[in-house]
Amino acid sequence: MQDNRILEVIFHTLDSLVSGGDREHRKNVFKSITNVCAHHLEGLLLSAKTCRRCPLASALARGLVTAPQGQQETSRVSRRSKLYEGKAKILYEGPEPGTLIQYFKDDATAFNNQKKATLSGKGVLNNHISEHIFKGLTTVGVTNHFIRRLSMREQLIKSVEIIPLEVIVRNVAAGTLSKRLGLEEGTDLPRPLVEYCYKSDELGDPLIAEDHILTFGWANEYELDDILSTALRVNDFLSGLFCGIGIRLVDFKLEFGRLYEGDEYMTILADEISPDSCRLWDMETGEKLDKDRFRRDLGGEMEAYSEVARRLGILPSADVQELSEHRKKR
Ligand code: 5GP
Repeated sequence: MQDNRILEVIFHTLDSLVSGGDREHRKNVFKSITNVCAHHLEGLLLSAKTCRRCPLASALARGLVTAPQGQQETSRVSRRSKLYEGKAKILYEGPEPGTLIQYFKDDATAFNNQKKATLSGKGVLNNHISEHIFKGLTTVGVTNHFIRRLSMREQLIKSVEIIPLEVIVRNVAAGTLSKRLGLEEGTDLPRPLVEYCYKSDELGDPLIAEDHILTFGWANEYELDDILSTALRVNDFLSGLFCGIGIRLVDFKLEFGRLYEGDEYMTILADEISPDSCRLWDMETGEKLDKDRFRRDLGGEMEAYSEVARRLGILPSADVQELSEHRKKR
């Protein structure tokens, strides 16, 4: 596309946004700029991102605008080597030693990969939500791997050796705890419950006891103490954060890694914290605002994730009605 044609398309798009039109129309207009070459679109994304009131910023954050075949967001990292590809994220080598780039995909999986889908915009939302939470945790002294966000889907992180554990903190009975112990979902637990699973796709992340961790050397006693106290501090922080925006923090999953400095290392919080890894229920309606919408075929996943982002102040309050609209449609 020629430069002036690109500008014309962009101006037309912005014009339509500002002058209103219904949601369907706006979506179509957004789609019309997907032919803009990746390079120019990236510039547009950058400037829109800095403007909190720009309606385009909301659309961008929700992944309504994408470059052809996702080029605009991968072009910078594709020249770097891919070190690991997981179900929802890719890790690339970072620009400096000791750093990595964490790329958030739109892919969603559940039940150990048996259910799969692409949720358009999920990666963008999770990148922003996780950034917001990790920054908040830094301010309260929880050391973690986050350095800075690089783009809509990428963040720069410290390279750590991942400890093969999923650390689950629960405040309310739900999910596998409810199934395992026959507890009604929604029952408040008398105190936060911390569980450990062994990270293994082949084995389906089995629940394990502290003794398994020590016996098989997945972490030592000091690390385990650190992990437990950090998990409970994260729970305090997140419970308050979500309570302040009318969301009940039911449970969540954390991962930790070893950050080496010479021969020494410290155990720090790693991975992501997002509606993919937490159960979040609206305090008034009980509505699920997390990945259970996908696991349980409830639909409206992106509306729910956007709602979390909006309440956290990450998204402008443009599309507030969406989850209730989804409800009405069902
Ligand atoms: P449950 O054990 O009830 O399935 O999950 C407990 C909590 O940990 C939920 O918030 C769930 O989203 C999170 N969780 C458990 N396993 C995984 C996992 O493999 N990946 C992610 N992203 N979250 C998980």
